[in-house]
Amino acid sequence: MTTMNDDKLRDLLDNNQRWAADTEAREPGFFSRLLKQQTPQYLWIGCADSRVPANELVGLLPGELFVHRNVANVVVHSDLNCLSVMQFAVDHLKVRHIIVVGHSNCGGVRAALYDMRVGLVENWIRHVQDVRHVHSEWLAGVPEPRRVDALCELNVLEQARNACHTTVVQDAWSRGQEVVVHGWVYGLHNGLLEDLHITAAGSDEVEGAYRRALAGVKARYATGG
Ligand SMILES: [Zn+2]
Repeated sequence: MTTMNDDKLRDLLDNNQRWAADTEAREPGFFSRLLKQQTPQYLWIGCADSRVPANELVGLLPGELFVHRNVANVVVHSDLNCLSVMQFAVDHLKVRHIIVVGHSNCGGVRAALYDMRVGLVENWIRHVQDVRHVHSEWLAGVPEPRRVDALCELNVLEQARNACHTTVVQDAWSRGQEVVVHGWVYGLHNGLLEDLHITAAGSDEVEGAYRRALAGVKARYATGG
């Protein structure tokens, strides 16, 4: 017996058939070329939120963006999943850019900010609470409706800095491989990505980039911009 849910899933498979046919029609040989290799230039580390679909936002096709997503775009040194993605992307695919992407009104960040009881995932977003605690004094001065977005941006800076400090990125830099770490934030309200300018291409650039980007975020919230 077919249920309504099965029908909905059928739609996904039908959509996929149409997408594959359209893609191949637009660019004959697209899939057979991808079969041979992927050569993405970018690693995207973003939030799992369904409203932030990585490839779509930046207009990149399959094969052009290597993607890791988790709740609240967290990069921690003990997360083998994220580290493995980074290691494969940097060491084997030789991506040129690692972009940590947060987004406004992030549910994970909101839960971290307000100590919401959300179950197992609370243990994960403890990492975002760590960010909140580091900046608690400044955050307390940000008007309530903007505090979540402020913490979203601080979280991007901290996670981008964490990415810089991973053995993967440190080793790449010490052997002279060109890889640049960035932090961006996506506006759910307008669909736009913004560069938070925590851009680092070597160990000696990390702390300066972090400090400048942090001052930038604080200035944005001080002026109401
Ligand atoms: Zn999110």
